[in-house]
Amino acid sequence: MPRKRASSYESLDADFLILGSGIAGLWAALQLAEHGHVLIVTKKDEAESNTNYAQGGIAAVMSQLDSIKAHVTDTLTVGSGIAKPAVVRRVIAAAPEMVRKLIDVGVRFTYRTPAERVAGLDLGLEGGHSAPRVVHAADLTGQEIERALIHAVMTHPNISLLVHHLAIDLIVVDDSRERRSVGAWVFDRFGRVIKRALAPVTILSTGGAGQVYRHTTNPDIATGDGVAMAYRAGCRIANMEFVQFHPTRLFLPGAGRFLISEALRGAGGKLRNSRGDFFMAMVHPLADLAPRDVVARAIVAECRRTRSRCAYLDLTHLKPQFVRERFPNIHKRCLELGLDITKKAIPVIPAAHYMCGGVMTDLQARTDLPGLWAAGEVSCTGLHGANRLASNSLLEAMYFADTGSRSAARARAGLKRRMPRLIRDRVLPAVGPLARGRRHWNLLRNSMWNNVGIIRDHEGLKRAESELRRLIKDAENRYRTIGTNADTLEYRNAALVGWLIAESAVSRRESRGLHERTDFPRTDDQRYHRDTILLRR
Ligand SMILES: Cc1cc2nc3c(=O)[nH]c(=O)nc-3n(C[C@H](O)[C@H](O)[C@H](O)COP(=O)(O)OP(=O)(O)OC[C@H]3O[C@@H](n4cnc5c(N)ncnc54)[C@H](O)[C@@H]3O)c2cc1C
Repeated sequence: MPRKRASSYESLDADFLILGSGIAGLWAALQLAEHGHVLIVTKKDEAESNTNYAQGGIAAVMSQLDSIKAHVTDTLTVGSGIAKPAVVRRVIAAAPEMVRKLIDVGVRFTYRTPAERVAGLDLGLEGGHSAPRVVHAADLTGQEIERALIHAVMTHPNISLLVHHLAIDLIVVDDSRERRSVGAWVFDRFGRVIKRALAPVTILSTGGAGQVYRHTTNPDIATGDGVAMAYRAGCRIANMEFVQFHPTRLFLPGAGRFLISEALRGAGGKLRNSRGDFFMAMVHPLADLAPRDVVARAIVAECRRTRSRCAYLDLTHLKPQFVRERFPNIHKRCLELGLDITKKAIPVIPAAHYMCGGVMTDLQARTDLPGLWAAGEVSCTGLHGANRLASNSLLEAMYFADTGSRSAARARAGLKRRMPRLIRDRVLPAVGPLARGRRHWNLLRNSMWNNVGIIRDHEGLKRAESELRRLIKDAENRYRTIGTNADTLEYRNAALVGWLIAESAVSRRESRGLHERTDFPRTDDQRYHRDTILLRR
């Protein structure tokens, strides 16, 4: 395989380099643009992100009938003992301010009636929350947030946005004085060239990794790139075993990864099994509004018991007009697929949805590597612990992008002064032909789904671990022999992230939060009341 000669890459320079254009990357860009030139690199179109598909909303205490204390308690309860109380208190207390900042930048949330615009945000109720507190824009909250933030970014003179550019790896300099990040190698997918983006500050905001599983609600971009890059660069990666499976992905031919939001259960929707029986009241005191992991496991158990492929979410007892108005997007999508949800129950299955673990950060979004900050789903901040409370993730992404930007802006001058004059180019595999076939992806996704899925045991996890080791070798081999293309880069990252999940799951010999093991059904606080941390040896 021909290699690029050293120092032959086009260079892109900025004060701040941001990888990803979801809520975390866009919000960080807007804050940092007040302090210097910002370059956003994103691997597909500007809006393509998990953020863009968020339906439910963003959790914040916006009503006098609710309290910060209750939101903190709900978050800690769902976090199953390993969410960090100091982090939870800080983020939850800032949530109302985050919502107001989004409104100020132009996000149009839903209000109860037009006359109530001052204090009348419509607040949804979701599983695990003890009060309605989910601020939303109908059932297209993420799309509305992306619309407003992209508009603000595009009109800001200090921000450049490069679409269809995929970050390959961080550029790490390691001299006698220090080891730090000075930017990233980037693959221009359309121009088919490799570039290097240099900046004293890099913000990693590449989102989640749902694509490592056969069934997921995440779009194609969610291949865990940021976690893989940070691991290769020597950052600590924490709590990867805690993968949230959303209980209700639409299960209709042609539905793809379309999500049926939890807000439907918040509005009164109820789950039935294939025989038409309601089952959640027998499983948990909160019935259909139990935490997501409980609902997902109950659906799996019910499907096994009744030998069926899916469960059904029933809204037919609700007023059709309310359903159409409150969930216009879901109603429309199901109608397109031939199902009128005001008349018939919706077939649903659980699917990989959210990664609680990720690159370890402190309260200012700093990672272990000087020059590198991480915000959003790519990070592990301590907010979620072993499980994420619904709609706390947009909040987390926004909060850490906000506080992280302040910290990065303060640090930039010092980092810029210490920017090495000469950066030696690493020799990367040359650009290769477009990839063919999906077999390698199927092997990875099936292994993850079958062995590292909703219910786990030692045997399955060890099987996955060794399969994934083989897949990592295969991925590195493809990268070296086929060369750089989007598929080899993403597959290389996804295989590594799959292994990080399996490795973390093997080592936690207990059940806690999202991590359910049939061979260790109890929570073992004596041995496992701690984070699972992986560091490249
Ligand atoms: C269907 C669905 C519904 C959801 N509903 C809710 C909800 O109601 N409330 C809630 O709080 N959370 C929800 N979530 C979770 C929430 O949307 C995400 O956790 C959050 O949006 C993550 O934001 P982010 O900025 O970290 O990442 P993302 O929004 O995923 O953005 C990541 C960005 O990084 C880019 N990227 C990735 N890899 C690279 C690379 N190598 N190089 C360059 N760019 C790269 C991507 O293209 C993308 O632009 C939902 C998620 C899904 C999938």
